[in-house]
Formats: sequence, structure tokens, C-alpha cells
Amino acid sequence: MTTASSRRTQTTPQRKNPSMCQHQPACPSADSTDREAAHLVAHYPEQGWSLLCNGVLFFEDTGELLPDGQIIAPHRPLGTEHVVTAA
Ligand SMILES: [Zn+2]
Repeated sequence: MTTASSRRTQTTPQRKNPSMCQHQPACPSADSTDREAAHLVAHYPEQGWSLLCNGVLFFEDTGELLPDGQIIAPHRPLGTEHVVTAA
């Protein structure tokens, strides 16, 4: 078994979240459940997505792509169609 001890480069200790956010107070980080509350830094309605200052790509169907590559399934508020349940 091999050990990969240096898979992450060191970041500045004072900034936990290496994001573009320079707001005060800081916006929710990408791994926060509140991540959608971050500010928009780019909006491409014709392509159907927005970029939040915490690095999250937010799609108009409410799906999300996190900076670490994690995909959040669309989670529309109730009222339309069916609710998708994850196992
Ligand atoms: Zn921000």
C-alpha cells in the first residue's frame, strides 16, 4: 500500500476557503448547506448557469457543481412535478 501524503498543496493558514469571496462577512463556503446564499460573480442565463463567489456553479434547474467536482442534484422547491428522492 502506498501513501500519498502530499496530494494537497499547502494553502495560507488564515484562509480556510480558497475561494473568490471577498465579501464581509464572508459568504457560506461551497461545502456549507447554505452555499446558495453566496453572491453571484457571473451569470450566464443563456447557458443556464451562474457562478457563485464560493466557487459553486449553480444551474438554473437548481443543480450544482461544487469546486471539488461534487455534483448536487437539482432540488426544486415543492410545487412542481415530482420530488426526486436520493437513496
Ligand atoms: Zn462572497
